Amino acid sequence: MTKELLKKIPNKNFLLNSLSANCHNRALLNYCIDEVLDALRKRILKGNVKTLDSHTIIKDIHLRYMQIYRGTLIPVINATGVVLHTNLGRAPISEEIFENIKKIVTSYSNLEYDLKKGERGDRYHHVAEYLKILTGAEDALIVNNNASAVFLILNTFGKNKNVIVSRGELVEIGGSFRIPEVMNNSGAKLKEVGTTNKTKLRDYEENIDKKTAILMKVHKSNYNIIGFAEDVSHKEIAKLAKDKNIISYYDLGSGFLSDIFKTLCNEPTLKEVVESGIDLVSASGDKLIGSVQCGIILGKKKLIDKLKKNQLLRMLRVDKITLAFLQETFKSYIEADENKIKSLTLFKANSYELTKKAEKLKSLIGEIDSEIVTTKTYIGGGSCPLQEVDSIGLIIHTYKAKSMEKRLREFETPVICRKGEDHLLFDMMAITEDEILTLAEAINWAKI
Ligand SMILES: *Cc1c(COP(=O)(O)O)cnc(C)c1O
Repeated sequence: MTKELLKKIPNKNFLLNSLSANCHNRALLNYCIDEVLDALRKRILKGNVKTLDSHTIIKDIHLRYMQIYRGTLIPVINATGVVLHTNLGRAPISEEIFENIKKIVTSYSNLEYDLKKGERGDRYHHVAEYLKILTGAEDALIVNNNASAVFLILNTFGKNKNVIVSRGELVEIGGSFRIPEVMNNSGAKLKEVGTTNKTKLRDYEENIDKKTAILMKVHKSNYNIIGFAEDVSHKEIAKLAKDKNIISYYDLGSGFLSDIFKTLCNEPTLKEVVESGIDLVSASGDKLIGSVQCGIILGKKKLIDKLKKNQLLRMLRVDKITLAFLQETFKSYIEADENKIKSLTLFKANSYELTKKAEKLKSLIGEIDSEIVTTKTYIGGGSCPLQEVDSIGLIIHTYKAKSMEKRLREFETPVICRKGEDHLLFDMMAITEDEILTLAEAINWAKI
């Protein structure tokens, strides 16, 4: 049976001839044929194929061809309710900010050119000034992401020296970023102190010696310890480090740039952390700050100067697109126009606005058995991991939840929602008004 099926697979020349009229790029067509046939062979060998027909095979190849031809990185509708969803690109950018950076990106710019002196300049000062004003930091530096920020700091100040971290803060973030491993790769030696649930100031103090370079605090981001737990605040760590003449560093991960959304969750603002006297702090640009992927480092000027001298920075540096986006984002914070920060406007929606979106969606999907409900969601991006956020959603009751959810992901604008055994949930928190129509189309198309 298996052998016969394998023999029945159409030969490649036949497929090339059948498809070449519609699929003009030879390399791409070859690629798709190989991929589809490989997958088919594997399914046959596993016994998952009963019959073969060349028509379906040709259709599958054509579909895959068109998919790659059009681009596989495409917009999706985020109906999960998690605004800072790492798998869905974290913070979305507002149209307004996008429009404003267009000219900088599509023409030449003074990215690294000092217009006053007519010579080579520094690419970081374009945004460092804003950050100094917004946070009170002496200086700032931008790198590719917060993981790079951690790496650069540890490599610059901790190489062949000891860095003290609480055992309760040796976190893994996003499956690939583990503090002990990053530390090891940077050349710094990890000195764990305290226990998983409790670390006291004297644990840091007793472990400081001649080899200690940094007292590091790491934001727990995606977990919390419930029960008997104790850790040391960044303020206390900053003070101890100062007394001992070593560097204090807080990997904050997320963190607000403005305090107007602090009611949302109890994360510190970058300004508060800087004011606590910490020497260095780093955060992601695309978490609570709501901009593009980058790592923001704030701190003492003499330390930032040292970071700038590390060769590694050349490998971690950001380009004009990142800096242009950041500049626009920081300008919005300076103008106190948080409406331009899309993720913050999503968080800001009240239950009335959320309900309105859900009602509109409900009215557009007619006969389908649906119900508006209150939901609990999370902020995402390692911010306030345990804090639930109230939201509103639309539930669709269906016994075919599993296959409908799959079809929703196959729509032209794929929809990512939450699913249960017998229902699908569309949370309104991360959905904009102008997406509702497309979402309704997707649901009407996917219903079975
Ligand atoms: C998210 C996070 C990181 C990684 O930041 P990226 O910008 O994703 O590289 C590092 N440390 C902490 C504490 C985080 O929350």
